[in-house]
Amino acid sequence: MAISKVTVIKVAPPPLDANIFIAGWGYITTIASGMWMTLAIFIKQLIKIEKTNTLEWPEQPSTYSDRFKGKHFLTLRDDGEVRCTACFLCATNCPADCIHIEAGNHPDNELEKYPVRFEIDILRCVFCGYCEEACPVDAIRLGPEYAMVGTNGGKWVYTKEYLAERKELSGGITSVKDETDKHPIVVVPALSRKTKDIKSYVRHGIH
Ligand code: SF4
Ligand code: SF4
Repeated sequence: MAISKVTVIKVAPPPLDANIFIAGWGYITTIASGMWMTLAIFIKQLIKIEKTNTLEWPEQPSTYSDRFKGKHFLTLRDDGEVRCTACFLCATNCPADCIHIEAGNHPDNELEKYPVRFEIDILRCVFCGYCEEACPVDAIRLGPEYAMVGTNGGKWVYTKEYLAERKELSGGITSVKDETDKHPIVVVPALSRKTKDIKSYVRHGIH
């Protein structure tokens, strides 16, 4: 196939390359205009002509949307105990494998189980919120707290007590769900499954 004839336009090299003094002048004027712009903004914000978007944290805390997923907390029942029933759905759904639960028998047969130990290794957490989504009884949520500081390893493993009763929670957060709510029995719509598979779903929850 014949190659179509194209017109090549020759352009002059950029002037900055043509002469070291012109190039140098270009650099100096560009840096100077940038510094002048920075200085002008600094002075305007210093004498309050222009509003700054910079926050002086921690004196000026930032606010995020209500949907922000920050530090976890465990909700409480009316008697002050954690709402969690140690069903392991959150731990099973956690993609970072950072929730560790040790279940114990609750003396109240209605509740059956409770977490003797509930820990989150927050350094592994990716704040995806899957634990919150998976929990059928609103026992774990991700709150608005975003400041997380610590100087040693122990500070980064949030214990049950810390998750439920740290001072930022002002005495603890009560669950919005009715205390008599049970973990729902899941009805699997795909009836092609065998009965024993459905029982397994009901026992372990949908993943
Ligand atoms: S937010 Fe995600 S990664 Fe963090 S504990 Fe929950 S499920 Fe795991
Ligand atoms: S899913 Fe909810 S009730 Fe189940 S172990 Fe996790 S926090 Fe507790």
